[in-house]
Amino acid sequence: IVIISIDDFKRINSIHGFDFGDGVLCDFARQLKNFLRGEEIVARFLGDEFILFLYEDDMLTIEERIRKLWNLCSGEVKINDNQFVMRVSIGASVSTDDSIAIEEIIHQATIAKLIVKKMGGNHYRFYDFELEELIKEEQKIENDLYHAIEKNEFKLVYQPIRELATGRNVGTEALIRWTNPLYSKVSPLVLIQIAEQNGLIIEIGRWVLKEACRQNKQWQKEGYSSVIVSVNVSAIQFEQTNFVEMVKEILEETELEPKYLELEITERIAMDRVEEKLLKMKELKSMGVRISIDDFGTGYSSLAYFTRFPIDTLKIDRSFINDMLNDENAKTIVTTIINMAKSIKIKTIAEGVETWEQLEYLKKKSCDQIQGYLISKPVDPHIIVEMFEE
Ligand code: C2E
Ligand code: CA
Ligand code: CA
Ligand code: CA
Repeated sequence: IVIISIDDFKRINSIHGFDFGDGVLCDFARQLKNFLRGEEIVARFLGDEFILFLYEDDMLTIEERIRKLWNLCSGEVKINDNQFVMRVSIGASVSTDDSIAIEEIIHQATIAKLIVKKMGGNHYRFYDFELEELIKEEQKIENDLYHAIEKNEFKLVYQPIRELATGRNVGTEALIRWTNPLYSKVSPLVLIQIAEQNGLIIEIGRWVLKEACRQNKQWQKEGYSSVIVSVNVSAIQFEQTNFVEMVKEILEETELEPKYLELEITERIAMDRVEEKLLKMKELKSMGVRISIDDFGTGYSSLAYFTRFPIDTLKIDRSFINDMLNDENAKTIVTTIINMAKSIKIKTIAEGVETWEQLEYLKKKSCDQIQGYLISKPVDPHIIVEMFEE
């Protein structure tokens, strides 16, 4: 039994959100059908999931067949005449024992698929018993996460953002940390992903926003030079109908002037239900809040697309900065983003700057600001304030 679950898809060369609707899914299923032999079956499982019943094959091992299937539906995929980039999670379970109920084997394939998804997706794996333990562990994390806010287990650390022209730290990005010693090694990325899956992101996101605004106001009261605090906003959080209202309330409660708050959203946000989101961004802008696009360059959107959006800042993804000095493509991408952003009066921040060579190059190319371990890792509030006075 094989379960294929579509994590994500993009039509290549399309800057507008594209509806990967039922029609395309049916065509995709038809393509899967060509993969089958004899009495094998493919069926739509749930939503964007497919289930395949495969039998033993004399030509290929089951492992080879799954790999073939993987190649067929991950990465660049052609469906009809459209070219897509697809990310899928595939879980498989093999049974040589007729006495095991089919439901059980489906359950096993589902567990394998879930694990793939939890690990970030875009992979395939076979079921084995240890996966059950992993799932239990996952549920424990989820449960502990649920109580983390009330137990005061989150904190924010801050990373300086430096203006290249003046050498001054003019901003800071707030990043969440879970202080529960059991989970000190859990990356915030994983934490946020789990929180997005179970809806906790709404509450956590609100806490982060309020704490960051409170802290920034606190620094101002203590007499440090004013900086912009950047807060990451998950797509799910941004899509809440009362999101703008919530931002407004938090600004009022904390008495932080809106111009000292920047919201970091990712390109993905702007991929569907564009009009609705455009409206929200405009409302936020009219309040005076700043908006930046995080991890820019990792999606499939073009900068031209973003001229429609009222954004202040583009944060060039770390991967490009990392490769920039030994990869001509990355170099071209970075300089093109900087130049185009400049021409439409959008500020650029290079993320993940780790070396002086990178800094010098970015300065030469007139990138506005940088952020990265070269300046400082994210640190506690009382440590970062010392960097605001420089
Ligand atoms: P991000 O928004 O792209 O944040 C930047 C990440 O890059 C941070 O990782 C930061 O520590 C790391 N970083 C900064 N400079 C360097 C560098 O020079 N080299 C390297 N290798 N890494 C650098 P962190 O804190 O682990 O956060 C990971 C991601 O988790 C963030 O990526 C963001 O997507 C998410 N995240 C963190 N805090 C929050 C939050 O409060 N809300 C939401 N929605 N997401 C958050
Ligand atoms: Ca960010
Ligand atoms: Ca980023
Ligand atoms: Ca990121």
